Amino acid sequence: MADRSPFTILHREADTLARTGELKTAHGTVRTPAFVGVATRASIKAVEPQALRDLGLQIAICNTYHLHLRPGEETIGALGGLHRFSGWFGPTMTDSGGFQVFSLGAAKEHGVGKVASIFPGDKDAPRGRRRERGKSLVRLTEEGAEFRSILDGSLHTFTPESVITIERKLGADIVLPLDECTSPLHDAAYTRRAMERTHRWARRGLAAFRLLKEDPSFPNSDPLLFGIVQGGAYRELREESARTIGEMGFDGFAIGGSLGRSKDEMFRVLEWTVPCLPETRSRHLLGIGEIDDLFAAVRRGIDTFDCAAPTRLARNGSVFLKGATRHRINLRTSPFTRDDRPIDPDCDCYTCRHHSRAYLRHLCRAGELSFYRLATIHNLRFLIRLMAEIREAISTDSLEATEKE
Ligand SMILES: [Zn+2]
Repeated sequence: MADRSPFTILHREADTLARTGELKTAHGTVRTPAFVGVATRASIKAVEPQALRDLGLQIAICNTYHLHLRPGEETIGALGGLHRFSGWFGPTMTDSGGFQVFSLGAAKEHGVGKVASIFPGDKDAPRGRRRERGKSLVRLTEEGAEFRSILDGSLHTFTPESVITIERKLGADIVLPLDECTSPLHDAAYTRRAMERTHRWARRGLAAFRLLKEDPSFPNSDPLLFGIVQGGAYRELREESARTIGEMGFDGFAIGGSLGRSKDEMFRVLEWTVPCLPETRSRHLLGIGEIDDLFAAVRRGIDTFDCAAPTRLARNGSVFLKGATRHRINLRTSPFTRDDRPIDPDCDCYTCRHHSRAYLRHLCRAGELSFYRLATIHNLRFLIRLMAEIREAISTDSLEATEKE
């Protein structure tokens, strides 16, 4: 824990907080800044582990809440842990379940998501996932969170201690403690109470983690524990949370919770939070990632971030292309009916080397399953190459020029 730093800074950019580094885990080293692939149910949707390796994906994040409900940590643990179970042997994270507790609780009552882009009525909200107001399915107490399974209605309890045990059974390389995520509609008083509870839960999670550290019965004998900073979009709370969590002796940090009602607020949250965290540990931003956000986050000192957008957009027909509006084109639209060019002539991915926009558009419109795989491969490769460019740009102090391009 505090006596070792798994993160090494290689280069700090001259005029920003951006840095390149190496994050050492039990299953390999992650070169940062890095994109973390979202493998909610121990699978990146539509793409198998061998293809992910070929794409150059460095690290994936799985979801403790979903894997706890199905197939269960006992099953995954008995089969050797997440790496053996899934066939992905690279670095892996598991989130704490805090965001799911939030999604089922306050977010449901308020009918909102974590940032403005998933507010009700937003045109970018993915179809079928617009949140409806309803009664919270969660009972939060000091002890933990009691919730009903979305699968069968059965009753479950997450405590800071039980979540650490679940994550150790899953066997990820980086685990996160239970936290309470607040909604952008919570006031400062509630957000403070939730933040203080998150801090108490962080201490309990840390104690449980240290107690189990040497236990040889878990699939991963050398995991890292990252602390989660909360505090909503309130400066005083974010600074206090970063300092408090920063002093507890975590191996690295994640910035979670409501990041405000707009992108500007989100960037301000980062500007308040990052400088209050220890410089020598890596910083993960939980669950964002439009292309523009990514540059903005890296400039503000973020080392890793996870985002479901590249895979979700791909399945909806949106593929990344430099220079296009919002950096993407939608293959569902008609200009591509007889377009014989690849998505991106400069892309080295399997999809761009073998298939035309016209064929991909046909697969997309026909609902062919191969479309999901081919489109996802391109979007992941785009982002992985972009991260490599960003690392290169930081090391030559030219991030701003790369961003403009
Ligand atoms: Zn491609």
